Amino acid sequence: MKTTVLSLASTLALFGAVFPALAEGEVNIYSYRQPELMKPVLDEFTKETGIKTNVLFLDKGLVERMTAEGENSPADVILTVDVTRLTEAKNGGVTQAVNDEIINKDIPANYRDPDGNWFGLTTRGRVIFASKDRVQQDTITYEELADPKWKGKVCMRDGQHAYNVGLVSSMIANKGAEFTEKWLTGLKANLVSKPNGNDRSQAKAVMSGECDLGIAYTYYLGVMKTNDKEPEQKEWAAAVKVLFPNAADRGTHVNISGMAMAKNAPNRDNALKLMQFLSSANAQKIYAEQVFEYPVLPGAEPSDVVKSFGTINPDKLPLIEIANNWKAASELIDKVGLNDGPSE
Ligand code: FE
Repeated sequence: MKTTVLSLASTLALFGAVFPALAEGEVNIYSYRQPELMKPVLDEFTKETGIKTNVLFLDKGLVERMTAEGENSPADVILTVDVTRLTEAKNGGVTQAVNDEIINKDIPANYRDPDGNWFGLTTRGRVIFASKDRVQQDTITYEELADPKWKGKVCMRDGQHAYNVGLVSSMIANKGAEFTEKWLTGLKANLVSKPNGNDRSQAKAVMSGECDLGIAYTYYLGVMKTNDKEPEQKEWAAAVKVLFPNAADRGTHVNISGMAMAKNAPNRDNALKLMQFLSSANAQKIYAEQVFEYPVLPGAEPSDVVKSFGTINPDKLPLIEIANNWKAASELIDKVGLNDGPSE
């Protein structure tokens, strides 16, 4: 009991330091996204509205923190990636519904919560990084990853990583659990080794000849291509081409980065202004460019780097369906033993 009180007190003290004034003219953001990624779009917001933004970056525990802060929480807007984190915030009771004409016009219904508790701003596509040298074909489907012709040629990160659970959720939503179990069994048999590394390592593995197809998010290709700090990543990126799975039928699985209004937002008016701004064409463009993602606004173009990957045809599946099938997907991944790698 004492620990709880103390940690709440120290938490509030910290917020006092981070957000010196909860006065008008400000908006407080709790973000799972790195502040430097948000800076260009937030600077533009301040330029247009005069409203100052304060960002608290968190790498975990956002819901717990906001729950502990309760009515005293300074949070106005939550920014995060992945629909599961957005639904986690909603289900954790730290968001409030927003029903705003401007926002609803800019953000297609499949990229927002039917109850208005979260909104997608940009998308990333779960694609295949294919060897430029060894893979001849320029199209693929997720289903094909289970085709024995790819035996020993596929690599991926941990099956229980959110990025892969999202993909499996989309397969369940589109094709049913029974099909998905068979698919996962075939995918497992085609893996070159136990799932490991992160999304970028899959490009590295393709470059080194370990595998021909790696499963990864589009934005990592942009990150690698422009990585002056670790220029070896430019070589990983140069070794792969992007195949957009199911481009000719239901489209490529996408997940979102998004926003939500905090339940007790002390600066609600400013929070709404920020959310309206972030949903605008201009803001989506700035933001999407910064993070190598796709704006959700119909017709809004991605950056030149992102365009160079090819054209995405995103799966129109409402993102809420990804969240709804999450548990089933995670269980199936364990059931088939995907993380054990190929059994033979
Ligand atoms: Fe990531």
